[in-house]
Amino acid sequence: MKTIVIAFLIGCLPALAFAQQAQPDFSKITLVIHGGAGAITKANMTPETEKAYAAALEQALQTGFAVLKNGGSSLDAVEATVRLLEDSPLFNAGRGAVFTNEGKNELDASIMDGKSLKAGAVASVTTIRNPVSAARAVMEQSEHVMLIGNGAEKFAGEKGLQLVEPSYFRTERRLQQLQRLQEKENPQPGDSTGTGSTENIFTEDKKFGTVGAVALDAYGNLAAATSTGGMSNKRYGRVGDSPIIGAGTYADNNTCAVSATGHGEFFIRLVVAHDIAALMAYKKYSVKKAAEAVVLKKLVANGGDGGVIALDRKGNFAMPFNTPGMFRGYIKNGESKVAMFGSLGVRKFRR
Ligand code: ASP
Repeated sequence: MKTIVIAFLIGCLPALAFAQQAQPDFSKITLVIHGGAGAITKANMTPETEKAYAAALEQALQTGFAVLKNGGSSLDAVEATVRLLEDSPLFNAGRGAVFTNEGKNELDASIMDGKSLKAGAVASVTTIRNPVSAARAVMEQSEHVMLIGNGAEKFAGEKGLQLVEPSYFRTERRLQQLQRLQEKENPQPGDSTGTGSTENIFTEDKKFGTVGAVALDAYGNLAAATSTGGMSNKRYGRVGDSPIIGAGTYADNNTCAVSATGHGEFFIRLVVAHDIAALMAYKKYSVKKAAEAVVLKKLVANGGDGGVIALDRKGNFAMPFNTPGMFRGYIKNGESKVAMFGSLGVRKFRR
């Protein structure tokens, strides 16, 4: 009899464990965001622009956190957050994206689900209003991970996503940024500001401005999403790290969720987002130690500018960057903070 009872109890254990897991735990829900890394210093900004960026970041945090608080998934939260940042002309994603060498706005985005390890991405799209939602549609409604260009746009249209004229993404500020870069590249006779060199094409204007979010929901699931216009003056169908799973975006419930921003070529070569997860998996690093090892050591040693946001399943997170500043923020336990400058000029906004 005793044996039967024990056998019955052991048989029930998986079901009990599942019941326990299915209970939502709202105490750990966390959202961390970035709005790009680069030469973000007080000297480079007016008080008005600083306020505008702080307000946009805060609004993004509140929007994503509301999803988590209402029992929404981390995927829903990162998508809603990134959509809002894509719609803001302040950031280099969606409207307000940088221009290619040919004067176009070509957008890249990706999303990953830490529970299933499913992922979706789009690259070089010019008519999808919210590329992050197209990335999610690729993940959930296709058998593929990445779709590019016309094919991605056709797919997004078929799935009922909003398509816009390419001119929707244009902003005067980014156009001027392109013109400045091109003047430097092709100096007129007698103009001493230009170098005539294409070597520094990616580093001349270091305010990157890509957007990203990582979230932990009440069910213990992680997700990450990233969206960008890439790098100003990019050419020949260039695609950066943002839509590449493992480079600009990664999420695995067993380790962490990561979204990156910076000089994409370096992030691709060093497989930055996955490298952080791998350090946690194989070397048992904490999320902070892993993110800092990659951003502050490996990337620096290889000359790669940028930063990441990384979040683990317990709600621990890190936001390291090796540039003068990074637009960033987090919301946890109802407390939100946004910041933009480096340690010397950190200014925190408390609610
Ligand atoms: N990582 C992006 C890219 O290389 C740029 C950025 O983060 O601003 O396309």
